[in-house]
Amino acid sequence: MSGFDSLSGLVGSHFLFVPGPTNIPERVLRAMDRAMEDHRSCAFPEFTLGLLEDLKQIFRTDDGQPIIFPATGTGGWETALVNTCSPGDRVLAVRNGQFSHLFIDCAERHGLRVDVIDVEWGEPAPPEQIEEALTADNIHEIRGVLIVHNETATGVASDMGAIRRAIDAADHPALFYVDGVSSIASIDFRMDEWGVDVAITGSQKGLMLPAGLGIVCVSPKALALVEEAKCNRCFFDWRDMLKANSAGFFPYTPALSLLFGLRESLDCLLEEGLENVFDRHHRLAEGVRAAVGAWGLQTCSKRPESSSDSVTGVMVPAEVDGAEVVEVAFRRYNLALGAGLARLAGKLFRIGHMGALNELMLLGAIGGAEMAMKDVGIDISLGSGVTAAQECYHRSASTSARAASTVDGSFA
Ligand code: PLP
Repeated sequence: MSGFDSLSGLVGSHFLFVPGPTNIPERVLRAMDRAMEDHRSCAFPEFTLGLLEDLKQIFRTDDGQPIIFPATGTGGWETALVNTCSPGDRVLAVRNGQFSHLFIDCAERHGLRVDVIDVEWGEPAPPEQIEEALTADNIHEIRGVLIVHNETATGVASDMGAIRRAIDAADHPALFYVDGVSSIASIDFRMDEWGVDVAITGSQKGLMLPAGLGIVCVSPKALALVEEAKCNRCFFDWRDMLKANSAGFFPYTPALSLLFGLRESLDCLLEEGLENVFDRHHRLAEGVRAAVGAWGLQTCSKRPESSSDSVTGVMVPAEVDGAEVVEVAFRRYNLALGAGLARLAGKLFRIGHMGALNELMLLGAIGGAEMAMKDVGIDISLGSGVTAAQECYHRSASTSARAASTVDGSFA
């Protein structure tokens, strides 16, 4: 029996609190649980075109063109770069965590020259340094700026509006590539307002689906580069996708079950309302941050204003291995927490609070994390984090109850 098989033998729910994959709502699971259909049938285009249209609302764009690949967020990085760049092109990127590091790695493996602004992991992307680097590039050689909006490895959200202003202040034509894998559909994201040229996400986070879709949204400016870009591509070529998509089809067999799920998850998000989705994530995150404070621990995020509303990195005392907290939580309490990645391995554990979650689910996770921390010898009082989060959720509950009452009337 594998470790995962053993989960199904446990009584009660498994508590999934990694920052992706996230919990899948029942109605999305049910929507995916259906027979395959002919993706070349005359009924298919209406379905596809509806998905692409509604995705625009998630990216908050009028002019952007969503493209859905059977891939993941990593595929999203790749398709963004190979369709707009040529080997030898220069780009500017901020590295403030493992995912920005991997985005840079992807660019380098395609032969791009990356000017890296390295900042301490736990800090956001610095708009001033971006402006400085772009201003220094007076021949406008830098083709794009690569930023991870929400660094899932550290729990830090960078200020995209400020970075847009920095690019504009430098009066630089660079494209703005934004990895929104752990922000889109959970944290405020505004493609058009921020002048994002390629926004990238995956299905397994805010969209509340299994992994398997890499979704990008592309501005007209980025799309105009597709012919001159010389990076090799076949599977990830936007031209094949857009040609087939314009008639409501795909150039190869689409991941049908995931598309059925996407239809349902878009309905869930749009029914709740994106602003309410963002508010809910903020409220949940505030409770987690209150718990961390009550434990006497620090978040990995160094600045409160940059703390992510979709994931929190909890620093553990130097003498403790954060991986042990994750291991004990999983083994003893059926709770999956995120481990520290790369240079943060062992130094922290992460609580994912993104997707289909509510206050009481978070209280369970906070309670489980507390017990696991106590088990590995961290000096905390059981209940301290739960109480702090409860106080927080109790204060904000009236708003949530009112929101719920508008959905089913049960709190009226
Ligand atoms: N970017 C960010 C911010 C992520 O959090 C992740 C995965 O967690 C990725 C990119 C890579 O996505 P995937 O694992 O779907 O390839």
